[in-house]
Amino acid sequence: MAGSFGSRKIEVPDLLIERSAVMATDAPGEAPSGQYYWPNKMGRMYLLALEDVMGKNGANEVLNQARLRHRINNYPPCNLDLGWSFQEMSDLSQALVDLHGPEGGSALALRVGHAWFHYAMKDMAAVLGIADLAFRLLPLSTKIRLGLQAMADTFNNTSDQIVHLEEEGDRFLYHVERCPFCWNRVSDVAICHSGLGILQAGVHWVTGGKEVRIGEIGCLARGEPFCTYRIEKRPHA
Ligand SMILES: [Zn+2]
Repeated sequence: MAGSFGSRKIEVPDLLIERSAVMATDAPGEAPSGQYYWPNKMGRMYLLALEDVMGKNGANEVLNQARLRHRINNYPPCNLDLGWSFQEMSDLSQALVDLHGPEGGSALALRVGHAWFHYAMKDMAAVLGIADLAFRLLPLSTKIRLGLQAMADTFNNTSDQIVHLEEEGDRFLYHVERCPFCWNRVSDVAICHSGLGILQAGVHWVTGGKEVRIGEIGCLARGEPFCTYRIEKRPHA
């Protein structure tokens, strides 16, 4: 559940804050249209990731189903302007389910999330500095915390997605207050599988491939206050 709000806020060393600030744009305010956005380049990465998982024709089929035909062969440009709407992302996620069923669609969305992370890393690894030697020498749970915070900072600084991190015993809770994947969707189960895939790939990368349990335990689509992901601090055997 997305409860347990008593946990302490996590401090991030200057190392990551300074570096992630390099890619920050102006902080997003409330959208007058009620619409929220990721930067174009993140949306572009999502469509490239979709292609990697489904092939070009498969990706086009999903775009068609999502009534995003105008995006076929017309991906968002590679810049930080806020031009990829939460509604588009949400429609794409729903289209995956419409075309491939709840289980198949979820599995595909998860894989797209993984692929997205690898595009994002190519773009941001140097900026975030988490490949540095100093970082590699840190304890595992510190690496996970810094990785999650770097991800949260990236979304908070460059998009309308709002993320905050909590630490609760032997887990981290990664709360998304505005989530593109389930925007305007209603469900009785958690449905942000691409968000989960991004986090799984991120934690896998940051820990050098350790198997750390991650699950979406709360979802805005289910009427909860956040989409909340729980990340264990230690790998399971
Ligand atoms: Zn969700």
